[in-house]
Amino acid sequence: MYTQIISKRAPFYADVPEEKWNDWRWQLSHRLNSVDEFEKIFSLTKSEQKALQTSGMFRVEITPYFISLIDPDDPNDPVRLQVIPRSEEMQSFTAMMEDSLAEDRHSPVPGLVHRYPDRVLMLVTTQCASYCRYCTRSRIVGDPSQTFSRQDFEAQIEYLKKTPQVRDVLLSGGDPLVLAPKILKEILTRLREIPHIEIIRIGTRVPVFMPMRITQDLCDMLQEFHPLWINIHVNHPSEITQELAEACDRMTRVGIPLGNQSVLLAGVNDCVQIQRELVQKLTRIRVRPYYLYQCDLVEGSGHFRTPVAKGIEIMEGLRGHTSGYAVPQYIVDAPGGGGKIPVNPNYQISASDHKVILRNYEGYVTMYEEPTEYKPHDPSSCSYCQDKRPEPGQAGITGLLEGKGMFIKPEGFDEIHDRHGLQHRLKDKKKWIPLGIGAGKEDNSEK
Ligand SMILES: *Cc1c(COP(=O)(O)O)cnc(C)c1O
Repeated sequence: MYTQIISKRAPFYADVPEEKWNDWRWQLSHRLNSVDEFEKIFSLTKSEQKALQTSGMFRVEITPYFISLIDPDDPNDPVRLQVIPRSEEMQSFTAMMEDSLAEDRHSPVPGLVHRYPDRVLMLVTTQCASYCRYCTRSRIVGDPSQTFSRQDFEAQIEYLKKTPQVRDVLLSGGDPLVLAPKILKEILTRLREIPHIEIIRIGTRVPVFMPMRITQDLCDMLQEFHPLWINIHVNHPSEITQELAEACDRMTRVGIPLGNQSVLLAGVNDCVQIQRELVQKLTRIRVRPYYLYQCDLVEGSGHFRTPVAKGIEIMEGLRGHTSGYAVPQYIVDAPGGGGKIPVNPNYQISASDHKVILRNYEGYVTMYEEPTEYKPHDPSSCSYCQDKRPEPGQAGITGLLEGKGMFIKPEGFDEIHDRHGLQHRLKDKKKWIPLGIGAGKEDNSEK
């Protein structure tokens, strides 16, 4: 068992009886959100005070457990930066967007984001145990008036029932594990009644903000809904405490595979050594690093953004240097709704007919000789190829590889390159089609 860090309580909580401290309802109802409350734990900087006194800011709440992880003497403590707002949060930046992933456009019904062929993101609540300052869904999260209604839920279930290509439902929000146990159980029960839903996933930061919520009772309930996968969200090694380790242990013991999603954050974890320590500590508590996200172009997160090169440098410092199990995939979630795009250092240096030149993490350069006689896979004699469920819509790059098409063109491509027709369109302005470049807005309509 992992026993390196026994987490402390902030001195302010020294007299709270053990059974209260370990009760997640007590933690939730004693969250801190105001200057006066924070000042009891540590003194705030001018920038923090200013942000906390500004109205209309993204919601602030921090559990007593999580705030206790902050070093009171360090204004740049990595946990502190994630949850205490600073005045920089009010600064806008170019390319900033409210809904940078265009989730609302991909929602057939409120709260259900169907972006990929076989899986959906289901937003089940807008509430969290504490609020991350760089929240990608700050347009709805934290606002109780935006919470999804019973009708929304029924509409989500209806959509899933009539959409058989969905085999994977990812519950998120907000945080599904702050829901009342009865409601969470009902959601899971209703999903399990749909035969084509093969796996259910939960994305949650509750184990990190409030590990006492991961009770044995909760785990016993969750294990009725296997196959169930959970991704937690840890950004810095100092969040990995004995309590988190024990919460993860309870979940893995009921058979839930655990992954971790981190966000690359300036001043918090934009460092190869911190990231290596983080992923190694995660594997020790049997949590597999899944994704490391580039910070989204969301309002309020400008001061957390790093160049993409920082992510590539981190991946360079992980792959080969530590266990493969500890290496996450670095992802840029495409602005405008393009979905998750993996970004990696280049390991392939060159190639010829039958030779590929590769380099390893140490800079060792090697030649892999490819077979000169390769009998290609024959789809007509492969039962998997025959039974393959067709993907609706455009099959993208895979489609090109399968010979289903010869090219993929940006919108307006033919018109732009049609020099002859251009003359006619210039005469008839109504037919002019601008090239499909936009700042998050759909603006390819004929003007
Ligand atoms: C992240 C995400 C998923 C899940 O993506 P995976 O790569 O399968 O983990 C599904 N739908 C949406 C809209 C997402 O943003």
